[in-house]
Amino acid sequence: MPDQTTDSGLVPALETLAAAPRLLVALDFDGTLAPFADDPSQVGALPGSWAAVLTLQRARDTEVVLVSGRPLGSLAEVSHAPEGMALIGSHGVEWRVDGHDADALTPDETARVARIGAALDEVGDRHPGVVIEHKPAGHGVHTRRVGAEEAAATNAEASRAAHDADPDVLERGGKDILEFAVRHVTKGDAIERLRALRGADAVFFAGDDVTDEDAFRVLHDGDVGVKVGEGDTLATHRVADPGALTDVLKQLARARATR
Ligand SMILES: [Mg+2]
Repeated sequence: MPDQTTDSGLVPALETLAAAPRLLVALDFDGTLAPFADDPSQVGALPGSWAAVLTLQRARDTEVVLVSGRPLGSLAEVSHAPEGMALIGSHGVEWRVDGHDADALTPDETARVARIGAALDEVGDRHPGVVIEHKPAGHGVHTRRVGAEEAAATNAEASRAAHDADPDVLERGGKDILEFAVRHVTKGDAIERLRALRGADAVFFAGDDVTDEDAFRVLHDGDVGVKVGEGDTLATHRVADPGALTDVLKQLARARATR
């Protein structure tokens, strides 16, 4: 039993979910499967969670998809996802589904991404502790290694610079990150699309950050959404941290594999 689960309603919800004819298990990576690390290239999924993920992936009529704000390449690298596991990066812009990569930026969007990136690099130059991450569909300004005051100043400068470079830039905040993108695609859009593509009868989604709320928003009755950690959420269930999510995934995997 998931003894770290603070939410008693979760156990029966998982049992019901596990009986769905076709199940889609969508999971955020950082802060959900993997604890945070200062160096984003050094993170890894908790072994217990990953074992459960692989069990779910092998279960019949069950598909696992990792849905991350990371670029697809970075997600593939840190997750060590087996070939055939669906990956969605850049909050839904980049897809690797059925072994097929889809990155649908237009030439105009690509040019906008480059322009915004150059403007953010200038901000990064003024703040040595800040990391500017360039992604295929946008950029992240990481302030995890600087103090709160410098983070706030950096975010204000970055926002101004990005909007000067491209008035239509889209901005979204996360944990110690401010992101700039040229296309409004969310994790919710990705889940809706994959649900339809796979004809899933039910969806499980777990995530820890504000961008995961877009995914919780598109869940239906009978789906299960699990918020990892603190903060306002639309999710119907919550666990304390990635370690507690391991228990949830183990329970779901066991129920699914033995149905
Ligand atoms: Mg996350």
